[in-house]
Amino acid sequence: MRPRFTALKGVADVLPPETSLWRKIENAAAGVMGAYGYDEIIPPVIEQTGLFLRSIGDSSDIVAKEMYTFTDKGGRSVSLRPEGTASIVRAYVEHNLPVRPAPQKFFYFGPMFRYERPQKGRQRQFYQLGAECFGIADPGVDAEMITMLLTLLDRIGLKGLSLELNSIGCKECRPAFKERLKGFFGPHLNELCPDCQRRHEQNPLRILDCKVERCIEIRKNAPLISETLCQDCKDHFSGLLGYLDAMGAAYVLNPHMVRGLDYYTRTVFEVKGGAGLGAQNAVAAGGRYDLLVSEFGGPDTPAIGFAMGMERLAGLLQGEAAVPGPVLFIASMGKEAAVEALRMAARLRDGGTRVELGWGGSLKSQLRRADKINAGNVVIIGEEELMSGRFKWKDMRDGSSGEGGREDIFKQFSQAK
Ligand SMILES: [Zn+2]
Ligand SMILES: [Zn+2]
Repeated sequence: MRPRFTALKGVADVLPPETSLWRKIENAAAGVMGAYGYDEIIPPVIEQTGLFLRSIGDSSDIVAKEMYTFTDKGGRSVSLRPEGTASIVRAYVEHNLPVRPAPQKFFYFGPMFRYERPQKGRQRQFYQLGAECFGIADPGVDAEMITMLLTLLDRIGLKGLSLELNSIGCKECRPAFKERLKGFFGPHLNELCPDCQRRHEQNPLRILDCKVERCIEIRKNAPLISETLCQDCKDHFSGLLGYLDAMGAAYVLNPHMVRGLDYYTRTVFEVKGGAGLGAQNAVAAGGRYDLLVSEFGGPDTPAIGFAMGMERLAGLLQGEAAVPGPVLFIASMGKEAAVEALRMAARLRDGGTRVELGWGGSLKSQLRRADKINAGNVVIIGEEELMSGRFKWKDMRDGSSGEGGREDIFKQFSQAK
C-alpha cells in the first residue's frame, strides 16, 4: 500500500475560499499601514535560540514550554520563532538601522511556531500580522500606532471592538512593584498553581496573567502597578490618554493587564472582541519595549509594537470567505474551437479578467461546470461561430444575452477598460 500523508498534528492547511479572506486582510493591512509610513520587513522564521531567551525571557511560558528548539547539523541550538518582535529588533540592530532617521516603522506577516497542546483556535504553526515602531518615546507615537490598529481592524470589517490599556512601568519603578507583589503572594504561595509558584520566584508579574481559577481568585486584592508608577511613567501614560481623548478614541483602563512577555515597558494594550466575538479574547495586542534594543547591543532606543493572530481575524470574518466565480466561461466544441477559446481567454486574462475554459466533454457537461463554479457569463464556441466569427454570450445571473465579434467580446468582458 502507498503511504497516505497527513499534515503534522497542530498545523493546518489554509484553503480557498479562506485564503481569499487572508489576502483581503493582508491587503487592507498593507494599505492602512503604508499610509502610516510602515514598510514591510521579512525576517527569517529560524533564529539562534538565545535571541528568544534574552528577549521573551526564559521564565515565560513560551520559552519554558512552547518553543520549537532543536540542534542543527552544525551543533547550534536554533528555534523556530514563537513571535515576531525579537527577530525584528535583532535585524534593526544587526543592520545598523538606528542611524536612519527616527521613527523607523515596519510591518510583518508570517508564520510563528509554538509547541502547544493543539485545540480549537490554537495551532502549533500560526500566522501573525504585526508592526513595530522604533526611535520615539513620546506617547503620541503610542496613540498613533493604536489609531492605526483600530483603523485597520475597522477596514477589515471588525466592529464593536474595545481597546484596553495599562502602563506596567519602567526599570525605575517596576522592581518595587515586583517586590510588593512578592510580598502580597508570599502568604498564599501554597495555594497558587505550580506555574505561579515558579513565577513567584522568577517573575511575580506573570502571576497576574495566570488563567487558573484559584490564582485569579487570590490575586483579586493584589496591589496595582498604577499605585507604584514613577512620575515619568505616570506622565507618559496620562500623555497617551490625552492624545487618545483628542483623537476621540474610546478606551477602557485595565489595571490588571500585564501581557505575557518580559520585554514590555510602560504602555501595554489589547483590542478585544465586542459582543458575539468572544469578548475575553484579544484580537490584537502590543506594547512598548523601550529597553529591548539596548538589551540587544543597540543604542538606547524606545520602541513600540503590536501583533494580531491571522487565524482569529479570519475566523471572526469567516462568513465573508468566498472565491469569486469567473467573469466569463468559454465552452468550446472541437479542437479548433478550443484553440480559439484559449486565445480569447489569454487576451482577457492579460487584462485581469477571470476566465475559465470548458475543456472537452459534452456541451451539457461544460455548462454544468460553468453553473457549479458560478460563472457570471458563458460564451459557446462551435463550428458555426468559428466560421462566422460571431459569438453569443449569456449573462447567467439575469439571463440577458448579447452577440458580437471578437472585439465586442473583449470590450464586453475586459476589466482593463
Ligand atoms: Zn517608571
Ligand atoms: Zn497560577
